[in-house]
Amino acid sequence: MNRLLELPNPQRRAIDAINAIAAEKDLRPYLVGGPVRDLLLDRHAIDIDVTLEEGSSTLARALAKQIEGRVRSHPQFLTYKVTAEGFPEIDIATARKERYRSPGALPAVSAGKLKDDLHRRDFSVNALALDLLDGTLHDPSNGEADIREKLIRVLHDQSFVDDPTRIFRAVRLATRLGFTIESNTAALMREAIESEALKTVSRERVWRELFLAMDEHEAPAVLAALHQQGALDVLFGPRRVSDLEKTLERVRERIERDPNLDRYVIYTGLMLRGDASPIDFEGGGFSQKRARVVVEIANELPRFNEALDRVISERQRFRLYRGVSPEMLTVVAVERPDEMPRIDRWREFKQFTIPLRGNDLEVPSGPHIKKALERTREAVFNGEIEPDQARSYARAMAKKYLEREEQA
Ligand code: ATP
Repeated sequence: MNRLLELPNPQRRAIDAINAIAAEKDLRPYLVGGPVRDLLLDRHAIDIDVTLEEGSSTLARALAKQIEGRVRSHPQFLTYKVTAEGFPEIDIATARKERYRSPGALPAVSAGKLKDDLHRRDFSVNALALDLLDGTLHDPSNGEADIREKLIRVLHDQSFVDDPTRIFRAVRLATRLGFTIESNTAALMREAIESEALKTVSRERVWRELFLAMDEHEAPAVLAALHQQGALDVLFGPRRVSDLEKTLERVRERIERDPNLDRYVIYTGLMLRGDASPIDFEGGGFSQKRARVVVEIANELPRFNEALDRVISERQRFRLYRGVSPEMLTVVAVERPDEMPRIDRWREFKQFTIPLRGNDLEVPSGPHIKKALERTREAVFNGEIEPDQARSYARAMAKKYLEREEQA
């Protein structure tokens, strides 16, 4: 298929290397799943997923050698991951059959044919394989037609019961691609949610899906849809959060501008708005410190806002800001337009430095030095003094604080 020629260069080189090895060793590799879907959609696939009925380990090892990379093997899933400098991540798998012994449990995996491998997949748009040697598209579930119609469709009625994490995948993919969840699939999804199918999956797996949702560019829409459909009740219990999508949307803009912000913490805090307790984020793997920030955002916003309303000086305001996390301040900034410029200014202040150190002050050492330097930084930043006055000002302040310490 000449669409392969449209791949960006690193992907193209990976496919060329795979094809050369396949010709030499008489192997039959297929590009499968997401990358084929994205090729048909003219979206650039990032990763390369290849499946073979036989010889996956031969291909993986020969490929790693040729492109000077390394192989990691996952024997329980019959898969290999090849990584090399300048190449995308390449997954090479043996075509496999899956059998769900009980709803929600991980499937039993065994080697199978290409058709088995496509049949085990989540949606028709992902059940596609492209023969890399002759360019034939294998499309047993009419995925290409669904791509044209922009539909997400499961392959059979038991799909969400077998693996309820597909509920998250369906919403994620539909939102990302601007597709609609086909009506029978949507009904099956609703049924699965109502019959609490997600309870058959560990909380850790549900959280993993939720974090993937938060990684999406369209995370606000994905999270709001999951919330609205009740898919998050299994983690958080039923709860109403008003204007969730709008708030998440505004917060996203700021998250995108500042990569230091912890978006998982912010989104989780906002979804738990009004009432968060540690039990809600069990399985999420948050450290204690991050969990505290989730609770801060979820539970302490009203009190923080009241305190802000009572503020009478800029210094008092900065003291309040200093007492909370940057993630909490991000939420405050988007919810209180009057506060936003001041919070931005505070952020600038946090980054602001003056070229002055304790030794420069020629004052006996002690806690007063740090206090004086901090007060000076504030004074320069606020324009109370000129930068070239910083040294003498800091010295005077240090002496003043020292006297106070001595009197106390
Ligand atoms: P993304 O761009 O999000 O990586 P992807 O479609 O490549 O999209 P992966 O999570 O990398 O998604 O999965 C690779 C392929 O494995 C999918 O295209 C799909 O065919 C299949 N797959 C993944 N998870 C499931 C699942 N829970 N049930 C069935 N098939 C799945």
